[in-house]
Amino acid sequence: MRLFTTVAGLRCYLKSVQKKQPVATDSAESTIGFVPTMGALHTGHLSLIERACQENQIVVVSIFVNPLQFGVNEDFGRYPRTLERDRTLCEQAGVDVIFAPTVAEMATVPPIQTRVQPPAEMMSGLCGVVRPGHFEGVATIVTKFFNLVQPDRAYFGQKDAQQLAILQQVVRDLNLPVTIVPCPIVRETSGLAMSSRNQYLSDEERIKASALYRGLSQAKKLFRSGERVSATLVQAVKQELEKVPSLQPEYIELVDPMTLKSLDTITDEGLLALAARLGSTRLIDNTILRDRRPIIAIDGPAGAGKSTVARSVAKQLGLFYLDTGAMYRALTWFVLEAGVDLRDEPAVAELAHQCEIDFQTDTAIPVVLVNGQDVTQAIRTPEVTAHVSTIAAQAAVREALVKQQQSYGRRGGIVVDGRDIGTHVFPDAEVKIYLTASIQERARRRQLDLKSMGQPAANLADLEQAIFERDRKDSTRTISPLRKASDAIEIQSDAMSVADVLNTIVSLYQEKTASLSLDSLEI
Ligand code: AMP
Repeated sequence: MRLFTTVAGLRCYLKSVQKKQPVATDSAESTIGFVPTMGALHTGHLSLIERACQENQIVVVSIFVNPLQFGVNEDFGRYPRTLERDRTLCEQAGVDVIFAPTVAEMATVPPIQTRVQPPAEMMSGLCGVVRPGHFEGVATIVTKFFNLVQPDRAYFGQKDAQQLAILQQVVRDLNLPVTIVPCPIVRETSGLAMSSRNQYLSDEERIKASALYRGLSQAKKLFRSGERVSATLVQAVKQELEKVPSLQPEYIELVDPMTLKSLDTITDEGLLALAARLGSTRLIDNTILRDRRPIIAIDGPAGAGKSTVARSVAKQLGLFYLDTGAMYRALTWFVLEAGVDLRDEPAVAELAHQCEIDFQTDTAIPVVLVNGQDVTQAIRTPEVTAHVSTIAAQAAVREALVKQQQSYGRRGGIVVDGRDIGTHVFPDAEVKIYLTASIQERARRRQLDLKSMGQPAANLADLEQAIFERDRKDSTRTISPLRKASDAIEIQSDAMSVADVLNTIVSLYQEKTASLSLDSLEI
């Protein structure tokens, strides 16, 4: 692991690793994952770092206590600085680079002249009321870091939900070429959200502070039982906090998680956020209240039977099978119709953003629509079949279709299979399955399939070699590499029939939905 304190050192390093990148698009190209922090690392930070390490070849962690985001009477001076410990933790986690510049190096003292000004209406509410200038300071420094590190992905905690929403807006508004990856809140066993500022709390205060979590959990329980009115949900939190008189709420509010606009009732989803003071420490916490049916994500290597299983799971549970393969076919059809060269990636990228794919699910066989036109039959022609892999291998295509898949996911109630559904497309899926089988078993199944299709007999050893190669390619490819989510349940199906796998997944789904509707305190 390298540690840089200057822009020059960091830039020189990044240039040298970029030069080493292979040119071929289908091989393992290096992506950069970036985790901006203020140091004093805890398990919450490490969850972001671990995810970045899983998803990228190079991981950069910045450690910088940013003066621009502290008010005059805030804790800039006493904010914990534990670089040596942070360094060990990063090294153990597999980080490649720590960037720990001085305030002079980041030109924040005297204050930087050029500022990033996010929308005032997103900064004025919630924490913005008592922290004027804070989010402008965050947006300015994070944009600066983005320009220096040029990451493919940047990881932020849901813990700082207002910061996350504002940075997502900045990235959209300025077309910054980075994907923001939101990561769930990591909590102590008491429920208290982890924070570097928890170091300020005495043991007694830590116990008291867990009331924030209990308040949010009460609201979540109410929400799950059908309550949608903001005032009632907020009141539930308030009542719990009132049990700890030394805890002084600053705000408890329900807002839209994207726009941060205040909500009177929840239609799809709401962000219930709060800040409270305990002695001299200011604590924040939140939870997302989402009216969504569960999502089942099934990932795994090729030939493990994912799509067969996904279809039957959907049928059995009355869910919608989101056929991502049909989406790639639909776009291929659209590109062919437009007469565009399929390898002209910029032209295909344009078309991908003009191709609205929809499914009509009220018929026996789902109807696939492209910009309103029924293409159910048209996408199954040999011509489309022959070209779909060329289209699916393009990064811009993948980005556009993942967005469309995610917008389907907003309503939930779907089963989706692929290689990175549980890690990338729907990282918050309620049920994540990693369906696998040994190479030998997959080769044996393939041999039987070929036989049943009347194809010439294939040699088992050749099939095994081909599957081995395919696995290697799928795990190292740049576009959508095969990934097992850390919270996925692995099903090794060598000794299982399709019906066995189906029953296992259905039981897991039923257990999960039952626990969601119980009075569990999990939020
Ligand atoms: P900070 O060092 O407080 O600026 O935090 C750096 C990043 O870690 C931010 O994206 C935070 O949202 C994230 N983070 C801090 N605490 C937690 C937590 N308990 N769970 C998840 N992410 C967190």
